[in-house]
Amino acid sequence: MLVNATAMLQSAEKGHYGLGAFNTNNLEWASSILDAAEELQSPLIIQCTGGAAKWQTSFKVVADIVKDLVEAKNITVPVALHLDHGSYEQVFQCIDAGFTSVMYDGSHEETFDLNLQRTEEIVKLAHSKGISVEAEVGGIGGVEDGVASAGELADPQQCKAIADLGVDFLACGIGNIHGVYPADWQGLSFDRLAEIKALTGDLPLVLHGGTGIPVDQIQKAISLGICKINVNTDLQLAFAAATRKYIEEGKDQQGKGYDPRKLLKPGRDAIVERTKELIQEFGSEGKAWN
Ligand SMILES: [Zn+2]
Repeated sequence: MLVNATAMLQSAEKGHYGLGAFNTNNLEWASSILDAAEELQSPLIIQCTGGAAKWQTSFKVVADIVKDLVEAKNITVPVALHLDHGSYEQVFQCIDAGFTSVMYDGSHEETFDLNLQRTEEIVKLAHSKGISVEAEVGGIGGVEDGVASAGELADPQQCKAIADLGVDFLACGIGNIHGVYPADWQGLSFDRLAEIKALTGDLPLVLHGGTGIPVDQIQKAISLGICKINVNTDLQLAFAAATRKYIEEGKDQQGKGYDPRKLLKPGRDAIVERTKELIQEFGSEGKAWN
């Protein structure tokens, strides 16, 4: 059964560990991520962008795939299905489709007031249905589904204003970037993270753009209040590298190596292995029942 992400993230906040929120793209992706979490007995947030839902046809298809996999694979750990970077409209679509958690990304709205107003409306509706809500303040660098911004740092006072609306967890820029980090990246701003944490209390904070941040910086961020680490590019790179190796070794041309089940297996196995490594780095192994 799917659950919302509130309790698992509150436990992470109290226990000073992080939960990976892993993006799914298709059946193989969802299945691999679930296998990794079950094997390590970690709570899991599996999330999907609007773009990845469109690729799979609709949010309803994504919700049905994840729900059916959890049931058919006898997954015992708590699993939340979360909308990643939702627009105002997508949030309502996901609530109808059976998602148990949504991110409303109002950081690109014309004004901060509009972000506040829409976040407040969404919190009321989502909470009436038992669905958790992530909100966002400030620009986070990089590009996600065509939305770009330039590595801004979130304003701590704006974080407090959004936190006071009763959101369940909050994404705030602390120098992180989506996608691959440039060679001259300055690193995370722990000072900014500490300022935000001081104003938002025990609210779980979210780190986007988790791929390419050195492990020691992620772990320090977790110790300062980051509870959810978004992972998308990392698994894409792992899948691509394993698939490239299979083809470059000519295995698709040996016997029935062209069979899609054989062709996709190295990438699938790579996602399981990489997800397990990340769960261990974030510290959520064995925390399924905390
Ligand atoms: Zn993000």
